Amino acid sequence: MPQKCKKVVITGVPGVGKTTVINGSMEALKELGVPYTSINFGTCMFEVACDQNLVSDRDEMRKLDQDVQRNLQKTAAQVIAKIQDNVIIDTHCTVSTPSGFLPGLPAWVLEELKPDIVVLVESNEDQILKRRLSDTTRTRDVEGYQSIKDHQNYNRYMAAAYSMLTGCTVKSIKNQDFLLENAINEMVTLLK
Ligand code: AMP
Ligand code: MG
Repeated sequence: MPQKCKKVVITGVPGVGKTTVINGSMEALKELGVPYTSINFGTCMFEVACDQNLVSDRDEMRKLDQDVQRNLQKTAAQVIAKIQDNVIIDTHCTVSTPSGFLPGLPAWVLEELKPDIVVLVESNEDQILKRRLSDTTRTRDVEGYQSIKDHQNYNRYMAAAYSMLTGCTVKSIKNQDFLLENAINEMVTLLK
């Protein structure tokens, strides 16, 4: 019987380094001969948002009207659901918007994606703060230590909700300064 494709959702607050962990893990998985397709949810949304002339920068999307964000989200989920492969989805448990935390995986997105695992990439708040300040390629929100801590906590609650709704497992992986290899090894062990 053909094996079922694995759907792994990888989340983490902006600046935690989830894309870096994903890229390193993809390389290691390739070397092990374990095929995965990696897709960035925000990029899928951004392509649609650009076509509709809604934004010119991906960091503007979380400031859009709530309904507009939800429509972009739904379209991206439908595109990603069509991938017939083991898939890593780089996204967010919640997105910090001017009107509060927007769930990255509301019920209709979960129904499309049917994830097997939700990974929370986490780190110390002071390290995240430093990474955001040194990243000149993005327009990261300027937040304090407590606000980043609250966001990471809230993401855990949301991951628990996603798990209850779908039966997926939830795994926390720490991405600490100078220990990127540990995070990659943990991710590869989980996905291979
Ligand atoms: P990223 O590059 O992962 O920081 O994503 C860029 C932007 O895409 C985020 O700031 C959000 O506006 C949007 N985004 C990514 N994933 C989701 C999601 N699951 N639901 C809603 N918006 C998302
Ligand atoms: Mg990223």
